[in-house]
Amino acid sequence: MSDVLVVLEVREGQLRPASLEGVGAARQAADLTGGGTVTALATESCELDAAQLGAAGADKVLVSDGQNHSGDGAAATIARVAKETGAAAVFLTATARGRDLLGRVAGLLNTGFAADCTALEAQDGSLIFTRPVFAGKALTKVRIQGDVAVASVRPNFFAPASREASAEMGTTQAEAGKAVVTGYSGQKQGRPDVAEANRVIAGGRGLGSADNWHMLEAVADAVPGMALGASRAVVDAGWRPHSEQVGQTGKTVSPELYIAAGISGAIQHLAGMSTSKVIVAINKDADAPIFQHATYGIVGDALEVLPALSEELKKLQS
Ligand SMILES: Cc1cc2nc3c(=O)[nH]c(=O)nc-3n(C[C@H](O)[C@H](O)[C@H](O)COP(=O)(O)OP(=O)(O)OC[C@H]3O[C@@H](n4cnc5c(N)ncnc54)[C@H](O)[C@@H]3O)c2cc1C
Repeated sequence: MSDVLVVLEVREGQLRPASLEGVGAARQAADLTGGGTVTALATESCELDAAQLGAAGADKVLVSDGQNHSGDGAAATIARVAKETGAAAVFLTATARGRDLLGRVAGLLNTGFAADCTALEAQDGSLIFTRPVFAGKALTKVRIQGDVAVASVRPNFFAPASREASAEMGTTQAEAGKAVVTGYSGQKQGRPDVAEANRVIAGGRGLGSADNWHMLEAVADAVPGMALGASRAVVDAGWRPHSEQVGQTGKTVSPELYIAAGISGAIQHLAGMSTSKVIVAINKDADAPIFQHATYGIVGDALEVLPALSEELKKLQS
């Protein structure tokens, strides 16, 4: 029977949706190894819903008294709580923050980690983590040697459990950090973060200029919960913010639907989106590499296809 600690990600007082998936993954891991306790830990002070977290799979919730996020402070808090709760596994979310914490936590616990996991199984009582490698071209299965396994789970691969249970709430002390985040800046556009959204429309250099982005926005407006993404070429050109970049040096996404408009499908872009469930490519070059990975392909001028697509989607809404 293995107890599992899962780290909740809170941004400006709000629980990130991917954290509930992390709780679901932790519940799955505990159940696979005999049904231990799942403790969810928020490393900064916030209001959390015991019923929501209990339903997602947490038995206990600990909220630390930390005021501002600190990478080294949060990692120290997580490692201490992992030891105190006797956790056999520590789960984080494969977001930018989760990536920052993963190695630190594994280092403090003197163990290995599996990053960006997409599936879990148990063999002889040990957890086996599946993670995509080589831009999603291959999958590796990882077993972590040692008393505790540390792993991050990719958003949109695990579902929160769906239980009738409420979590027991508690508090813990935050470890002091040397570097503390004092504020966030970024564009707030009222759309979901591209790394967590279930539907994404991304644009590339084929759109011609930043002025044509309203065509992507019109499609996103017609599809509930759709986020905007971008290739690095357009981010480098200053057309879109880096927070929207998908790929090796941007965000990794795995939505149900990924529409790539005017994106060639370079290996570094594929590294960030090839595990999307349905990929729709719009490109005027029938030989563009993206078509080799697309579920559906539209060979055509994105500047004509996108307005037609948003018009049809609007009709479906009305
Ligand atoms: C170390 C490293 C890291 C990188 N990291 C990333 C990363 O994280 N993310 C990323 O995206 N890239 C990354 N890149 C860059 C990557 O190699 C490509 O250069 C980039 O993805 C190309 O962007 P693009 O597809 O928008 O542009 P292009 O390659 O120029 O492709 C434009 C596409 O649009 C099509 N097109 C043109 N006009 C139209 C039209 N009117 N309608 C429809 N289609 C049209 C063209 O046929 C073409 O296929 C990285 C590169 C390196 C070396």
